[in-house]
Amino acid sequence: MPFVISPMQCAIITIGDEILIGKTIDTNSAWLGRKLNDLGFDIRQIHSISDKPKEIVRALDESLEKTDLVVLTGGLGPTNDDLTKKTLLEYFGGELLLDQEILDRLEGYFKGRKIPMLEVHRQQAFQPSSSKKLINNFGSASGMWFEKDNKVIISLPGVPYETKGIMREYGFDALTAHFELPTIYHRTILTWGKGESIIAQKIEKWEEEANASGLKIAYLPSVGLVKIRISGIGDDEGIKIRVDKKAEELYQIIPRYIFGENGDSLELITGKILREKGLTVATAESCTGGYLAHKFTSVSGSSDYFKGSLIAYANDVKEKVLGVSIKDIEKYGVVSEEVVKQMAENVRMLMNSDYGIATSGIAGPDGGSDEIPVGTIWIAIASKSSVNAKLLRLGTRRINNIMTTSIICLGSLLQEMQK
Ligand code: ATP
Ligand code: MG
Repeated sequence: MPFVISPMQCAIITIGDEILIGKTIDTNSAWLGRKLNDLGFDIRQIHSISDKPKEIVRALDESLEKTDLVVLTGGLGPTNDDLTKKTLLEYFGGELLLDQEILDRLEGYFKGRKIPMLEVHRQQAFQPSSSKKLINNFGSASGMWFEKDNKVIISLPGVPYETKGIMREYGFDALTAHFELPTIYHRTILTWGKGESIIAQKIEKWEEEANASGLKIAYLPSVGLVKIRISGIGDDEGIKIRVDKKAEELYQIIPRYIFGENGDSLELITGKILREKGLTVATAESCTGGYLAHKFTSVSGSSDYFKGSLIAYANDVKEKVLGVSIKDIEKYGVVSEEVVKQMAENVRMLMNSDYGIATSGIAGPDGGSDEIPVGTIWIAIASKSSVNAKLLRLGTRRINNIMTTSIICLGSLLQEMQK
């Protein structure tokens, strides 16, 4: 089946000097890009530009040359730096007309809050005659919908919850009604334990077949995890079946590394299985400093299976509180298989849990030696019947090492439970 690129192309323009100088992070583009792509648009470009009318016109000219839909955000407020409405009026022609419905809403808004309504606020009830209004139930600046040469231009306020509110209430429905859009279907498979290049190597043939059949594969790596997104686009009903089939194949090829899909997290899935099996876990953390416990406890209801954590950072805490043999610490070193295994076993007994997990290593960036370089980390998982340790050789970035180690601990526990 041929791969159909969406015939409907879209550009996003975010307006505001504060975005250009890094004072505001442009979250509107990311949100709009995701939502409009889900709706069936091919996002061709995102511009962030200054408030100047000249820049707005330039970005609009360029976007309209290539795309069917242009969505702008920002600069619709009542202050002097908000020049978008004035610029669009000049661009599309027409005149400003008082919209009674918007005026009534604004008067109600100010009365309700007992704030005096000023002339600048009244000005917001004037809309270009060349546009249709998109009512804003979340703030004072209405959105606008223009059409030109079969193309649609939407202008929205910059405040993110207003942008989202208008699109959710009116914008997306109006776009679906106006454009003939193809179906887009994604599935995101979540993996842990291997980097993106190793995963890519393992599924090379699968990926080639997916590409040849018109599906699109994207790798989305984050610390300790790789997400594999399978996307299909087309106007045929079979798109979901094809994407689902490809996803099922992946479960056959790399079952060891997959832990969930879409919005899942490793701590959520690990917690779910602990609960289902009626098992509990406790942690003894040196180099992760409580981050592993934080992962477990960031899931609501984790008290069902998470008993607690001992942050055994100093050697005397490892010895006196956790009961690790000081002789072994001196003999093998604190970053060693022997010590981390004792930590895991002892915390399991101390907290009377089914599993004990321990971490000990050099998180960096300082503190390494030739024998034990930064990024050398031991982890261990103790159960009632055994204790297994694993050596990790990570990088030099402290926070990354802490996060990756915690993720590998969660994944290793998951694997242990699936044995
Ligand atoms: P207002 O009526 O509040 O003036 P507006 O449409 O004029 O709305 P701006 O003045 O451009 O919007 O931006 C208002 C606020 O919204 C900014 O201070 C900023 O915090 C936020 N904002 C603007 N654009 C973006 C964006 N692209 N992403 C995230 N936040 C944004
Ligand atoms: Mg403003």
